[in-house]
Amino acid sequence: MAEHPKELQSERRIFCNRTLNLRSIKAIGFDMDYTLVHYNVQAWEGRAFDYTKENLAEMGYNVGDLKFDPSFVNRGLVIDRKKGNLLKANRFGYIKAAAHGTEMVEFRQMRKMYRQTTVDLSNSRYYFLNTLFSLSEASIYSQMVDKLDSGTLTAGDDSPIMGYAELHDLVRKALDQAHVEGKLKADILADPAHFIEEDPELIPTLLDIKATGKKLLLITNSGYYYTKNVMDYLFEGKLPNKMKWNDLFDISIVSARKPAFFQSKPPVFEVINEDGHLQPMQGKLQAGKTYLGGYAKLIEKSLKVRGDQILYVGDHIYGDVHVSKALSQWRTCLVVRELEREVKAIAAGQKASDTIAKLMNKKKCLEHEFSATKLQRLRIKSDLFDDQGSAEDLKKKMDSIRQELIAIDDEIRPYASTDGHGFNKKWGYMLRTGNDKSHMTRQIERHADLYTSRVSNLLHYTPFMYFRAARGALPHDCEGSYYY
Ligand code: IMP
Ligand code: MG
Repeated sequence: MAEHPKELQSERRIFCNRTLNLRSIKAIGFDMDYTLVHYNVQAWEGRAFDYTKENLAEMGYNVGDLKFDPSFVNRGLVIDRKKGNLLKANRFGYIKAAAHGTEMVEFRQMRKMYRQTTVDLSNSRYYFLNTLFSLSEASIYSQMVDKLDSGTLTAGDDSPIMGYAELHDLVRKALDQAHVEGKLKADILADPAHFIEEDPELIPTLLDIKATGKKLLLITNSGYYYTKNVMDYLFEGKLPNKMKWNDLFDISIVSARKPAFFQSKPPVFEVINEDGHLQPMQGKLQAGKTYLGGYAKLIEKSLKVRGDQILYVGDHIYGDVHVSKALSQWRTCLVVRELEREVKAIAAGQKASDTIAKLMNKKKCLEHEFSATKLQRLRIKSDLFDDQGSAEDLKKKMDSIRQELIAIDDEIRPYASTDGHGFNKKWGYMLRTGNDKSHMTRQIERHADLYTSRVSNLLHYTPFMYFRAARGALPHDCEGSYYY
């Protein structure tokens, strides 16, 4: 029995950036990897890391000692390909934390390094970690930067020394190869229980949507063989009326090539049997069939719906939600599994956050008093005003306030320096930088109408839910008078 959303644990809620009425949605499309199916990150990315290493070793690189460390990286961080750094930026692109290779850069040094620089994701210098698939990539890259710096990276031949950007190209090539070659996917399919974290609420969620008559779509970049086997694992024998997964989804598209899916018009093929044999698609997409390739406009035409009547649910910030919204006006929901850990960490750190806020308030008042005293002293010294008291007394007062401020800073420091450590000890929260929004949060609010930790959170709302964006706090909303 579905609960009322108010009773939901906060980490399982659906959060709304842009008001969306599900009644007006005629079709809901789902991405597969890390959306319909959630992988154990340590297992899946660890295996991707191993095969990437194997590919690098085959190219001659001495990478045998590298180990996957998921605790070092978060989705939403940015690789600075020019400097070999990993960055955390705020919503304006200002850099708030950096690591060179696997070492965090000391705060003042980081400020000096990036004083003139803001992260601009349209610049190929920066590479955004869009999905959980990016964790293995960032982990291996940062360890290879260490090797490159220490002069211990060898290629087994006379290859010229690389720069940090070429090193990233190399890691990308080896990782791409791991994803595309058969061995990694064969390992997953040989032991799916080890890699897949099943969600018992997934099927009831999809059945509820189906019962309303809304169309269900599967649109995945994975190839047919991998998709079929993962979907069989998730759904085989678990659906009513002997349905198979491709009966549940009105249209299934594999090898979708997102983000190009939302822009180009490639040839489309129908998968005509379970061995993946193909024939060119005739006319429109038909219910109950699986296709290789496709494009957004063809879906709209085949279902006779507009782009804004389709909701697409995916985990890739660029490929699933940014492009689908920008180019096709599809409504979007981003799946961010880490949100569950983040929301719990925020709750656990609430007392510390309150303490910081209280101390900062005290500091703000003292700073004002200090500045006002300083001004009064300068007035006396300037001879521009009538006598306003003793400059010497004011100097004493300033010294005393300064001592109080130092004491407050000492009090704040331990709280501030561990803020967000409940989520990640090096980078803090994923969605916050101090009091501000992180760069990732900015991407989410721009491109995702909704965001939530997993698909099955929809079960706890009805498929007719009217998601309303909260009235956001603006700087001029603050109540009360200033300082006094
Ligand atoms: P989706 O999330 O269901 O659209 O599919 C993701 C597919 O893209 C999976 O088959 C992944 O193996 C593949 N993939 C993810 N990252 C990379 C990459 O960096 N290079 C090549 N393929 C990737
Ligand atoms: Mg995905």
